[in-house]
This record gives sequence, C-alpha cells and structure tokens, in this order.
Amino acid sequence: MKSFTYEKVNSPAAAATAGSTTGSAKFIAGGTNLLDLTKLEIETSAHLIDVNGLGLDKIEPTAEGGLRIGALVRNTALAADERVRRDYGLLSRALLAGASGQLRNKATTAGNLLQRTRCPYFYDTNQPCNKRTPGSGCSAIGGVARSLAVIGASEACIATHPSDMAVAMRALDATVETVGPDARTRAIAIADFHRLPGDTSMDLAQAQAAPGVLAIVTADNAGKSARAVTIRRSCSAGRRLSTITRP
Ligand SMILES: Cc1cc2nc3c(=O)[nH]c(=O)nc-3n(C[C@H](O)[C@H](O)[C@H](O)COP(=O)(O)OP(=O)(O)OC[C@H]3O[C@@H](n4cnc5c(N)ncnc54)[C@H](O)[C@@H]3O)c2cc1C
Ligand code: SF4
Repeated sequence: MKSFTYEKVNSPAAAATAGSTTGSAKFIAGGTNLLDLTKLEIETSAHLIDVNGLGLDKIEPTAEGGLRIGALVRNTALAADERVRRDYGLLSRALLAGASGQLRNKATTAGNLLQRTRCPYFYDTNQPCNKRTPGSGCSAIGGVARSLAVIGASEACIATHPSDMAVAMRALDATVETVGPDARTRAIAIADFHRLPGDTSMDLAQAQAAPGVLAIVTADNAGKSARAVTIRRSCSAGRRLSTITRP
C-alpha cells in the first residue's frame, strides 16, 4: 500500500477546500470501499480527508414533507429510522439487502452512493480494465460477466454501479447536494448523479468530478409504497445480479 497523509476537518466547506487545494486527495467516511481499493493500489490518493466530524449524521424532516439525510448517516441507522421504515420502506429494504450488518454499521450514505464498481476485473490488477487504466481494454467483455450490465453498457465498459441504496434513491427521485469550498451548495438530481460509461468508461459521479464534499441527500416521499426486488446469485454480500423497483 502506498503511503498517504491524513487530516480531519470540521466543516463541509473546509473539507471541500482541502479537497480542491491538495492534489490527489480523497474524502474518507466509513472507509469500507476506499481502504479496500487503497490496499490494492487501485486508489492511490496521496492525502485522505476524514469527513466523519462534519456533523452530517442527522435525518431531518423537510418543509416539503421529505427527509434530509446527512451524508454521514450510517446505512444501519438509515435503514432502522422509524420514519424511513414507515414512509420509505423501499429505501430501508434496499439498504438491508446490501453488504452485511458489520459493513452497514460503518458505511455512510455518501460513501454508498460514491462507491466504485464491484466488477471483478476492476479489482484484479493483473487484468486490463478501462476504468482502472483508461485505454487498456475491458476484460469483462467476453469474460465472466454474469453480474454486469445488460443495459446502459458501452463498448468500453459494461460495469454496473453496485449500490442497492442508489436504486431506491433513484426511484424516490432524491436530490443530492454538494458543498463547495466557498460553502455554496449545489443540488443535483439523482438521475444526473451517476454517469453511464459512454466511450470513456468513467463512472465518477458528478460530486467527485467537481471539487466539493457531498453533504445531503433529500428524498421525496412520493415513491414510498414502491418495493425493491433484488436478484442475487447467492446469499453472500456483493453477489447482486440486479435490482428492480416496482410501484
Ligand atoms: C464485502 C462487501 C460487500 C458489499 N456488498 C454490498 C451490497 O450488496 N450492496 C451495496 O449497496 N453495497 C455493498 N458493499 C459496498 C458498501 O456498501 C460500501 O463500501 C459502502 O457503502 C461505502 O461507504 P463508506 O462510507 O465506507 O465509503 P468510503 O469507503 O469511505 O468512501 C467511498 C467513496 O465515497 C467518497 N466519499 C465518502 N464520503 C464522502 C462525502 N461526504 N463527500 C464526498 N465523497 C465522499 C470517498 O472519497 C470514496 O471515493 C459491499 C462492500 C463490501 C466490502
Ligand atoms: S466492465 Fe468496466 S470495470 Fe469491468 S473490466 Fe471492463 S472496463 Fe473494467
């Protein structure tokens, strides 16, 4: 593992400033995805900015009747929240379908939305992968691709986004807010947040592409009666084949 420096920040604007002024910096929340990728030297950030002290760990009602979910709310806390279980059963069930209890205790709302693909070739640094090394080729095309994309793929990449929660957030038409170094917020519809591979194989979400810390997710309760159905190859975490929602 490559060495890196580490700092703790105490406001979203300070985090965004540190992120935009320090080259090759990454925010770290639960660390359940970032640290795995760092150990494999797929992520090689020279500087980690710990966002756990930003106070973004609350779930609050909005004036419009929705919920504002802090970026640092743990997956376990979000799934168990009484209001989420009552009015957003889809979201609660989607979260509980993901990973394991231990992982959900650490994993955060923002980190879950921004986790990287679980394409096996992306994790295998001996194999070509356009997402890891642009231009090297895609080992999944013609390889073992049962859990990868059927729609929304390209000739450069057929990876899927692994978040069960993101599917529920999309069905709920959530809005993601980011905070920039100047403390100004920017709202991004979840439908625009994740990009399809296109011809570049990039999966970076808007929030990562622009310097800024992901702060808040606001979910509307319009889809509260929807259900998510997750089809898995086995009971083990991360073996999802597909998730669909139905009203
Ligand atoms: C064995 C295993 C099985 C899994 N199975 C599933 C599964 O079935 N379903 C599922 O949905 N997920 C699954 N996961 C993934 C897991 O849910 C994610 O690792 C977790 O949600 C990431 O959250 P985190 O807070 O730990 O993120 P981190 O690892 O801390 O960060 C992930 C990314 O988000 C960025 N980031 C974090 N917080 C912020 C912020 N506030 N602002 C801007 N950027 C930020 C980081 O810079 C990094 O790029 C699995 C993981 C493992 C290890
Ligand atoms: S599908 Fe995407 S992530 Fe997987 S090997 Fe191909 S380029 Fe890499």
